[in-house]
Amino acid sequence: MRARTRIARLAGALAHWGTVNLAHRGGGNIPGAVALRVDPGLVGELAGGLSPRVVVTGTNGKTTTTGLLADALAAGGQGVVCNRAGNNMESGIAAALVLADAGEKDERRAGCFECDELYTVRVLPAARPNALVLLNLFRDQLDRYGEIDHTQDVIAEALRRSPETALVYNADDPLCAAIADRVDNPGLPFGIDEPTDLEADRISDSRFCARCNTGLEYEYVHYGQLGRYRCPACGWERPALAFAAVNVTLTCGGFEFDVEDRRGDAVVRHHVRTRYSGLYMVYNVMAALAGCLATGGDVARFQEVLDAYEPASGRGKVFSLAGGREVASNLAKNPTGFNRMIQQVRAEDGRYLALFLNDNDADGHDVSWIWDIDLERLRDLSDLRLVCVGGTRREDMAVRVKYAELGAEVVLVDGVLDAVGLLPEGEKLHAIANYTAFPPVVADLQNGTCSTEPQKWGRSVATVAPAAPDAVPVALDRPLRIVHLYPDALNLYGDGGNIASLSKRCAWRGIPARVDQVLMGSELDLSDADVVLLGGGADRDQLAVCHELQRQREKLAAYVSDGGVLLAICGGYQLLGHSYMMGSEQVEGLHILDLETVAGDTRLIGNVAIESAVCATPIVGFENHAGRTLLGAGEKPLGRALVTGTGNNGEDGGEGVLHDGVVGTYLHGPILPKNPGVTDWLIARALARRGEAVELAPLNDALETAAHDVALRIATRR
Ligand code: GLN
Repeated sequence: MRARTRIARLAGALAHWGTVNLAHRGGGNIPGAVALRVDPGLVGELAGGLSPRVVVTGTNGKTTTTGLLADALAAGGQGVVCNRAGNNMESGIAAALVLADAGEKDERRAGCFECDELYTVRVLPAARPNALVLLNLFRDQLDRYGEIDHTQDVIAEALRRSPETALVYNADDPLCAAIADRVDNPGLPFGIDEPTDLEADRISDSRFCARCNTGLEYEYVHYGQLGRYRCPACGWERPALAFAAVNVTLTCGGFEFDVEDRRGDAVVRHHVRTRYSGLYMVYNVMAALAGCLATGGDVARFQEVLDAYEPASGRGKVFSLAGGREVASNLAKNPTGFNRMIQQVRAEDGRYLALFLNDNDADGHDVSWIWDIDLERLRDLSDLRLVCVGGTRREDMAVRVKYAELGAEVVLVDGVLDAVGLLPEGEKLHAIANYTAFPPVVADLQNGTCSTEPQKWGRSVATVAPAAPDAVPVALDRPLRIVHLYPDALNLYGDGGNIASLSKRCAWRGIPARVDQVLMGSELDLSDADVVLLGGGADRDQLAVCHELQRQREKLAAYVSDGGVLLAICGGYQLLGHSYMMGSEQVEGLHILDLETVAGDTRLIGNVAIESAVCATPIVGFENHAGRTLLGAGEKPLGRALVTGTGNNGEDGGEGVLHDGVVGTYLHGPILPKNPGVTDWLIARALARRGEAVELAPLNDALETAAHDVALRIATRR
């Protein structure tokens, strides 16, 4: 071993000793960070001796799959070096190596590492693993990752720099299959090879073919974008599976299935029984099994390993508390993960819920994703009584729950024990928390199990008044027609929330309104449209919508010149202009407004607050775009960036555009629920255009105002 690596290892060990004994903290990333300082090549040096070496990455399921795979490798008789606690950046992996005393001639030990998607490009070339297990890619922490396309680029580059690494990937996910399609690494696709008849999520993260950008067609969907897909134009399809789950059945104990190893001439079957009722666990378990098989591991004891496996740090755990109360604790940090938990709550016909939302660095500062969750599906619970909301952004979550109209009481709480304090004896609470909100929930529950007096467990902070006043119906010739353009393609930052804000604020005032969705491929009819929404999207989605809209450009142009009300967000806003320059590719715009956009090398990401003529209070939101937009001489911005936020281009202080009834903006959040003044401006303008003299009755906006004020505070602080 190089002297430098030896010293680095020593320095890391010392740092660990210091953090544990002097600072009384768990080691975490610190020993790794210190060791990497001394020797940046440490991961390669220390991991190189381990055999086999496997790296696990993907949006959801990394920690579980890594833990299971490490156990499976260990069951084959090997020692395993693993970053089990989920510290998955390069420093976390370095820390695991340092603390395990990894070094050369270590062949009797295997290495199994969880790796953050963006760090694969550092870890793969260094560790040169035998296999990379790629689980899935979903929208998650987009303020860190940018757009999913970027994550794909990074992983593909990592694989190119480690050409011998086999890619064991979820072929049901077109975003993972697209990576396999771009690299020359040996590929081992896994997937579920039969329909599972689950209800598809409202939003999919991949709608278009990775080769030709035509809309994908599905034979079946399991959830998110996972399923069996095919491109009708170029024929690109889900690759033939090397590992296939079949006979997937949900028993009262959990999912059972067979994994067929189809690599050889004869198919080898492995029967698997799980204790889990979520289909995502079928993928995680199959990925661990596939990772083990792909690296030559012995899977004879895999079932034993699975039976003994305890999910890390309280995930999916049920705590028993005094009075026969139970609390199930679950982690969900993005829409797809959250939707799995919603499925679970529905399967159990839950009655008490507690949702915790934080916006710390590790969670992502952008909380717009909560509007991409299919929360409305909880309306079919037979007796939902209480939804508690907590976390640094609990006001946002409360607004989300309010607009879902779940018919339950909504209470703001400080912690999970406040929610337990409201739980009657013998009842079960489903607590769902995002990344940094989760550990305190588990810690509180662990402490709570010692207490016998639930009444001592805190108090609710505030109960939310029901949303709907007794509205007097307003008479209109025909309902206000809200047209949502291409929600199947442009939906990146909770645009559904903008529609909810428009339609609910009409309904609560007795104004008849209806929402029509115009999906990709369908004919556009704006003849009696009153409010039109064009949402935001990644470059790829934007391109597809642009082609779609070019055909029907005249209809939208006529609607706008007739004073039609249009809200266009981010990608949709850019499309209204002359062009969007993405690198060397020019996307022809609709030429409806005099503006032009050019993508920069960096993304403009963060909270924004602007002053605008449209409403009295500052408009708050979040921006995340590569495009820089310049307004032509005749156009006026929607507002001026207040304290934070770059707005259109970071140069002239302007944000968005205001052109007759058109509001174009980079602000999502989504913009309307937290800025009801903007919603009401759009509604009032639409009614006025119809010649209806309707006074907009005031609503109880206490919660919206609270969420607005929290966002404004953050925007002006960070
Ligand atoms: N893809 C566009 C950009 O990056 C728009 C992003 C968005 O809709 N937020 O500029």
